[in-house]
Amino acid sequence: MTAAPLILYNSLSRTLEPFVPLDPGNVRIYSCGPTVYHYAHVGNLRAYVFTDTLSRTIAAKGWPLTHVINITDVGHLTSDADAGDDKMEAAARASGRDIWAIAKHYTDAFKQNLADLNIRTPTYMPLATDHVAEMIVWAEKIAPRHCYQLDDGLYFDTTTVPDYGRLAGAADDAAQGRIEAVAGKRHSQDFAIWRTTPPGETRQMEWNSPWGRGAPGWHLECSVMSAKYLGPAFDIHTGGIDHREIHHPNEIAQNQAHCGCSDTGATFWMHNNFLVDRTGKMSKSSGEFLTLSRLMERGFHPLSYRLMCLQAHYRSELEFSWENLTAAQVRLKRWVHAVEALRSRSGDDGGTPALPYIEQLDAALSDDLATPRALPILDALLGDKKLPPADRLATLAAFDAVLGLDLVRLDRATLRVRPMDAVLDESAIEARLVERKEARAAKDFAQSDAIRDELSANGVEVMDGDPLGWDWKLPG
Ligand code: AMP
Ligand code: ZN
Repeated sequence: MTAAPLILYNSLSRTLEPFVPLDPGNVRIYSCGPTVYHYAHVGNLRAYVFTDTLSRTIAAKGWPLTHVINITDVGHLTSDADAGDDKMEAAARASGRDIWAIAKHYTDAFKQNLADLNIRTPTYMPLATDHVAEMIVWAEKIAPRHCYQLDDGLYFDTTTVPDYGRLAGAADDAAQGRIEAVAGKRHSQDFAIWRTTPPGETRQMEWNSPWGRGAPGWHLECSVMSAKYLGPAFDIHTGGIDHREIHHPNEIAQNQAHCGCSDTGATFWMHNNFLVDRTGKMSKSSGEFLTLSRLMERGFHPLSYRLMCLQAHYRSELEFSWENLTAAQVRLKRWVHAVEALRSRSGDDGGTPALPYIEQLDAALSDDLATPRALPILDALLGDKKLPPADRLATLAAFDAVLGLDLVRLDRATLRVRPMDAVLDESAIEARLVERKEARAAKDFAQSDAIRDELSANGVEVMDGDPLGWDWKLPG
């Protein structure tokens, strides 16, 4: 899949630009990772569905790649503007648990989320806490010309680099959440490189440094780890749209200070828009929030959520609703049924991929990852009666490669996630289905519908008229 030139939206220029790898033998991508003081909410996971679509598209173009997603296990304050407590320390204090155990628990949970969503394992997933010594070396290098010390830490003077904040929009300081200014900062946009532990306090995570015992600022970790694993100039840096305003401009400032030049570190800076719910942006700190496990507990397959994400362009806001998710799950089920039917008719011989479909798919993804345009092409492929089933299946593999929906392998039994509150076991379901058959035979449709509704309320979908004669069953 190489035909169409890849065009991507670069937040730096605010335009669509042709993507040309710095090294076609190794495209390098860095994605800001999760802060592991809690589970990722489904909004966070949208960010990684986006980066996975990006890296799968690049791989499908035939370019080998190195992808880094870091784990932020220190440094991220409750406000992005250097105010408040460290999120990790606050979580540890609130729960009375060991901070390292918290970090490990939520890092593992995040990795499980990635696996459930069929997100390809990144090449590296470095922990910030494993790189503190390198952060100190970086800070020592830039401190003399770019930083100043206050009682509570070492601060970066943002006027010492060219065009500070070019990446960010024209948002004013208030909009950027910089209201809670730290006393003594020279400019409201200046940010902490190192935060010194206040006298008389101890943190669970702290290190010695030339600026006192303390912890690194959040932005520093991404400059240091991206340069370490990808080099000082790499191809693409990604994050959620919130990072365009503070975190990424601060990384760029540090990178420029470090190289003594105006290079930002990455050629492309790309940002996914938010998943929102009716009350606004999803956030981990706002108490109740939606995790992938909660969706699964309610009977949704993780790939239904992935499909829900793909139904919107990554730069559009996407509203989470159970209706949207249900619609995605129904669509996924329809495809899985169609693929199963193809499989049963295709015989053992492998088919030949149909190039016109692959070219259309390539054209859609090459147009700034236009996944909503790719999905109807998949509909057309599956329903193309002129194409032998084996050829349709062979073509499907190209769609799986970039969309990650795993349609070649998914079957109905796997798709059927048992809701946590399901009360019926398999024999009870079978018994109710027999009763329903009898009711239908006796033309008692009210009773037959009532049984179907009862089963549906328990997460069992009854499928009348299924050409394969296959009723839904809950997994064992
Ligand atoms: P965090 O764990 O808060 O550091 O965020 C991890 C990633 O999720 C970052 O790239 C954020 O920009 C992104 N993100 C946070 N909230 C949302 C949201 N509601 N929708 C999409 N992406 C988000
Ligand atoms: Zn980052």
